[in-house]
Amino acid sequence: MELYKGTVHELHQQLVSKKISAVELTNAMYDRIGAVDDQVKAYLTLDKQGALAQAAKVDAKIAAGEAIKPLAGIPGAIKDNICIKGLKTTCSSKILANYEAIYDAHVIENLKADETIFLGKTNMDEFAMGSTTETSYFQTTHNPWDLSKVPGGSSGGSAAAIAAGEAIWSLGSDTGGSIRQPASFNGIVGIKPTYGRVSRYGCVAFASSLDQIGPITRDVTDAAIVLNTICGLDKHDSTSLPVDVPDFTKALRQDVKGLRIGLPKEFYGAGLDPKVDAELKKAVEIYRQMGAEIVDISLPSTEYAVITYYIIAPAEASANLARYDGVRYGYRASNATSAPEMTTRSRTEGFGPEVRRRIMLGTYVLSSGYYDAYYKKAMQVRTLIRREYDEAFKKCDVLLTPTSPVPAYKIDSQMDPLAIYLLDVCTIPVNLAGLPGISVPCGFADGMPVGMQLIGKPLDEETVLRAAYTFEQATNFHTQLAPIGGKK
Ligand code: GLN
Repeated sequence: MELYKGTVHELHQQLVSKKISAVELTNAMYDRIGAVDDQVKAYLTLDKQGALAQAAKVDAKIAAGEAIKPLAGIPGAIKDNICIKGLKTTCSSKILANYEAIYDAHVIENLKADETIFLGKTNMDEFAMGSTTETSYFQTTHNPWDLSKVPGGSSGGSAAAIAAGEAIWSLGSDTGGSIRQPASFNGIVGIKPTYGRVSRYGCVAFASSLDQIGPITRDVTDAAIVLNTICGLDKHDSTSLPVDVPDFTKALRQDVKGLRIGLPKEFYGAGLDPKVDAELKKAVEIYRQMGAEIVDISLPSTEYAVITYYIIAPAEASANLARYDGVRYGYRASNATSAPEMTTRSRTEGFGPEVRRRIMLGTYVLSSGYYDAYYKKAMQVRTLIRREYDEAFKKCDVLLTPTSPVPAYKIDSQMDPLAIYLLDVCTIPVNLAGLPGISVPCGFADGMPVGMQLIGKPLDEETVLRAAYTFEQATNFHTQLAPIGGKK
């Protein structure tokens, strides 16, 4: 089998048994990137020199008979809103087009300590605002299953890189679905951990009360391996939780007997593509046959989740993005005659239309005349949504829903933003409630992958992983690779 098709756990075995070297593996990945990335466009930056130097170090360690960590020498890709010192971190924005990170994100420090390999930085929607990668200032990423379709977003580059064999594992960030939705569009695994499980330090802020970094991988085992490395308390992030990090790979047992799986009816109503619904019904049947107990659940406030998110997230974004003023770093407009004009023009020219729309929305809902009507109300609804999940988890252990109501659709930058926002309906409530959620492949609709979302109690990634793993082992969706076909 070609090396680029491997998983983290398979390739680790090959490295430690000296069947392959990390340098050989890294070179194979760059060959693959060279062969397909002009079609897929997953990457913005490559760091071949840095990656090969790190690979050589791991090879030396193996040759010296030293033990290596599961991610050591395994090439991964990092979303371009996560800082790696010395490499560009653009957030796919013109305003940061030349910004070079001056420090490592906490997750990067952890990954470096485990001697993993960073192939490069991946394309995304500008400042993680979007669902398709089309809002990137630089390029649109194409779905490797059908190049005329979107890879999802905002972590579309990180997801397409995995599906196309251009990385073995990757990191994304998820504010309203940006790990899980692209994972589902690409037929791979993506997990958003509980809010606070993973430090946000060094991940460029979009909406701080919602953002969370997480892995995108080919299978559930790899997701657990990456989680083991990136989770944990960080003094640089005040929302980072002081809780123990279990060995998530220990949760990977094939056992759902007696597990109570809740089906929230609001996720299966109008707007759900019947072909997606059919795949989910089959998945539920598989769980039932394996001994899980299926429980009907209602989460009535689900219908308010999207609008609540599109008030809170822009509000936080408008505050977070105020730092791009043309003074400290980032793009500066030339020939301005006053400081206010310089800042205004830098922001107008440096931000794309979607980011400007969100800043305006956020500023509006926070303005004194509208704060109570919009922002305060949204925060109250957020509390209601969270409480409904608390109640639901008294009746079940995990919730099973679609990840996206539709499979990947055609690339079309003219699509109505509101129509795209509404498609976030299945993933957004999970961020509002701060819960862990995974997307695993569960079928196909017209040749495009369909993802199933499993949502867990706060800090109960283990049950989510166990349920996902059990399903994965009973099916073969995770072994199917994207053909990289169709016309762009
Ligand atoms: N699609 C959502 C948005 O546009 C979610 C993005 C994200 O999770 N970063 O805001």
